[in-house]
Amino acid sequence: MKILRTVKELKSFRNKQTCELGFVPTMGALHQGHISLIKQSVEENPCTLVSIFVNPAQFSENEDFSTYPRKIEADLKICELANVDAVFLPKIEEIYSKAEPSLLAPSIKGYILEGYNRPGHFDGVLQVVLKLFNLVKPKYAYFGKKDAQQLFLIQNMVETFFLDIKIVPCEIIRDERGLALSSRNIYLSEVEKEKALSISKSLKIASREVMQGNLNADAIKEKMQAIMSEIQVEYIAITDRDFEKTEKIVIKNTIILVAAKVGQTRLIDNIWI
Ligand code: AMP
Repeated sequence: MKILRTVKELKSFRNKQTCELGFVPTMGALHQGHISLIKQSVEENPCTLVSIFVNPAQFSENEDFSTYPRKIEADLKICELANVDAVFLPKIEEIYSKAEPSLLAPSIKGYILEGYNRPGHFDGVLQVVLKLFNLVKPKYAYFGKKDAQQLFLIQNMVETFFLDIKIVPCEIIRDERGLALSSRNIYLSEVEKEKALSISKSLKIASREVMQGNLNADAIKEKMQAIMSEIQVEYIAITDRDFEKTEKIVIKNTIILVAAKVGQTRLIDNIWI
């Protein structure tokens, strides 16, 4: 497995590859969620490149950029065991220059929900993903449905800028009790973990309600809120797959999304109906 630390090294690696490439962008501290994306790419492509880059542009000032978990040695081992061909591990200066044009997420869909609660977050995400796409030139890029709005905005960017890349949405991986895996879960104490389970529980109950014929978004949100009474819910949203708010749930075209703070840790989760 090649470890590429500079843009020059990446370009040189890429120029030597004649086969189609699968790409998995990550911020590291890899867990089974990331690993499922990586495994899918390794299975589906002759060559897979994983990037590990904690992107400062997607964190706002009061967020956890400096303390975000970094576990490079373990991450490299995971990639090697998964038969990844190359890992791109750039320093910030490799990716960003002092003055550069910046990409803005689309005005409404980039500034609701996650974009509302984390102003500028998606501008930073799109900025780095576009740079990485241009460098890596993948045929397929793998993204988790866990970050559903991010997935939507990246798909939208690919279409808007006519990028010749196929975005592959990947299922959410959870622990045995239902908590969606996240690099930030290591911030949670045992008690907080227990409380955090109410997020996936509320989504499960929402899906059960829908299966029983309750398609009223407000009624479902109320039930979900009641289940998450011990945590600080930022939003419960029910939208269609294009992130338009929905009042009546339509099967196969709905996403139910939650963001909540458990102690100091902000968590997101969702379910695709
Ligand atoms: P991150 O390192 O948090 O930027 O995540 C890198 C990629 O892994 C993104 O496409 C995420 O959506 C995806 N991902 C993170 N957690 C999970 C999970 N629990 N299940 C599936 N994909 C995930």
